[in-house]
Amino acid sequence: MCKNFNFALIIKTLNNMQTIDNYNFKDKKALIRVDFNVPLDSQYHITDTNRIDATITTITKILNGGGSVILMSHLGRPKGGPEEKFSLKHLVPYLSQKLKVPVKFADDCIGQSAIDLAGSLKPGEVLLLENLRFYKEEEKGDKEFARKLSVLGDMYVNDAFGTAHRAHASTAIIAEFFPETKMFGYVMANEISAIDKCLKDGKRPLTAILGGAKVSTKIEIITHLMDKVDNLIIGGGMMFTFIKALGGEIGASMVEEEYVELAKNIVEGAKTLGVNLYIPADAVLADAFSNDANKKTSSAYDIQVPWMGLDIGPSACAKFNHVIEQSGTILWNGPMGVFEMNNYEAGTKFIALALVKATENGAFTLVGGGDSVAAINKYNLADKVSYVSTGGGAMLEYIEGKQLPGIKAIME
Ligand code: AMP
Repeated sequence: MCKNFNFALIIKTLNNMQTIDNYNFKDKKALIRVDFNVPLDSQYHITDTNRIDATITTITKILNGGGSVILMSHLGRPKGGPEEKFSLKHLVPYLSQKLKVPVKFADDCIGQSAIDLAGSLKPGEVLLLENLRFYKEEEKGDKEFARKLSVLGDMYVNDAFGTAHRAHASTAIIAEFFPETKMFGYVMANEISAIDKCLKDGKRPLTAILGGAKVSTKIEIITHLMDKVDNLIIGGGMMFTFIKALGGEIGASMVEEEYVELAKNIVEGAKTLGVNLYIPADAVLADAFSNDANKKTSSAYDIQVPWMGLDIGPSACAKFNHVIEQSGTILWNGPMGVFEMNNYEAGTKFIALALVKATENGAFTLVGGGDSVAAINKYNLADKVSYVSTGGGAMLEYIEGKQLPGIKAIME
């Protein structure tokens, strides 16, 4: 979601990108792939509206331009047929209230009823289609299913960054049916710009802060970031694989033995490339993986069983803060400790606040990846950093340097 930076400026920095700013929507029907995969409670109330809220500027821009809008999305993981709990009809009241327009609903995303409802839309009106994943053809990237969706609109807008890493019918294949009229919505354009701004054009020094549980799930990002960043900060459970690689005693801390050798290579690689690698000197230890366990702070390099490191310590916080203060651009992915438990959240909260301070002082700060987003939301700081990515997996794959099918389909 776009926070406190100049939106118009971002759009201008996009090269060869087709965005909705370059189209006249008057009397046209825009078929928009959105990511409305939001959590619902047992009463079908939306418990986190972020993904819907993020798309409002795209929808409003088209409606204000004299167009009408047909929204399509998936929700949850239905098993290949309609299921009440995954119906997008539950989103209609919130969406109507948010857009200040009564949103119409098609209880099938393809077929005659959808064609009729889409066909009768007038400028300024909005139609929401039923869950795309009620058809298994969606995830299979079925071309005929994509064609059936495509007949509903005059142009195709992809605004679903969260699914851009999937080559599904509605996220990639459908673009073939709109060779001249396919474009990115603002969510997509902003996500791509924010990451590019960070990794390609960011003000130096560029600092990446990586945490979370495992080296194995972050290894591609680390490798891809190595020749781009000035500073690399490692925290979370994965710091102990590095500490072991450096000869430290890690007690009962989380470790991935098969990655110790790789961690050694990363340490050496950082030296060769001139990247400053920061690994916590101290940690908050517990004698069990529990919020009620005994707790102490000690060196992260001399931990004895049954103690385990569940958060970074105060010296590490102070050191990282110094690096963050000096940075022009900061990318944060993954918590510094087991932030879900109050006794081990201090490091993560400290980093979140350090990013807020850096943002106030003019740095560009990007937070992405499921758990760091959960953390920044936990402390109500999401609107105090430059950008919070809406797409976890998609963002990570983009940072890893992969070409995302949803982006490629529009750019081609
Ligand atoms: P990831 O999905 O890889 O970003 O990992 C996030 C998870 O890492 C969170 O659920 C944290 O509780 C967990 N985590 C962070 N630090 C540690 C640690 N020192 N030991 C065990 N788990 C951790």
